[in-house]
Amino acid sequence: MSVLWAKLVWCIGVIGWFAIRYPHERRSRRTPKRLRSDRARDLVLLTISATGLLIAPAIYVFAGWPQLADYHFRPALAWLGVAVFACSLWLFHGTHRELGRNWSVTLEIRDRHVLVSSGVYRYVRHPMYAAFWLWALAQALLLPNWVAGPAGLAGFGTLFFLRVGREEQLMIETFGDEYRRYMARTSRIVPGIY
Ligand code: SAH
Repeated sequence: MSVLWAKLVWCIGVIGWFAIRYPHERRSRRTPKRLRSDRARDLVLLTISATGLLIAPAIYVFAGWPQLADYHFRPALAWLGVAVFACSLWLFHGTHRELGRNWSVTLEIRDRHVLVSSGVYRYVRHPMYAAFWLWALAQALLLPNWVAGPAGLAGFGTLFFLRVGREEQLMIETFGDEYRRYMARTSRIVPGIY
C-alpha cells in the first residue's frame, strides 16, 4: 500500500458514506417534524464536524497541503485504516436501516417518532455516532499528516460531546421513563465501557 492508495481508499470510503446516506436524506426531507431543537447551534456543530471529516482531509488528498505536517507513511497502519473504514460503513448502513424514518441530521422529533431499541440499538444508544468515530479513526490511520489525519477526531469529537447530552435530554422529554430505562441498560458508544 502506498500513500496514493491510502488517499484513494479515503475517497472511496467517503463516496460510500454519501451513497448510503443519500436515500435517507431524501426521505428525511419529506417526513414531517414535531419538534426541532436549536437548529443554528446544530448547523455550527455540523460545519465543524464536516471541516474535520471532509474539508481538511480533501485539501490534503487533492492539494497535498499542509505538506509541513507530513510524516512517514506506515502501510500496516493504512491497512488497519481500510478495515476500520469498512466496519464504519457497515455499521453506518445498519444504523440507518434500523432508525428508518426516525433519523434526522439535526436534533428533531418526527411525527409518530418511535424509540428504536432493537438490533445494534439494543447494546448502545449511539451506534451511528460510533460509526462516525470509526470513520474519524480510519482517516487518522490512512492519512500520514498531523493536520489532515486527526482533524476528523477533533471535528467529530466537538460535535459529539456538545450534542450527545442534549440529544439524550430531548429523548427523555419525548419518551420519558421508556428512555430512562433504555439508558439504564445501554452504553453510549462502547458496550459496557462508555
Ligand atoms: N444518536 C443516534 C441517532 C443519531 S441521528 C445514533 O448515534 O445512532 C439523530 C436523531 O435520531 C435525533 O434527532 C433523535 O431524535 C433520533 N434518535 C436518537 N436515538 C434514537 C432512538 N434510539 N430511537 C429513535 N430515534 C432516535
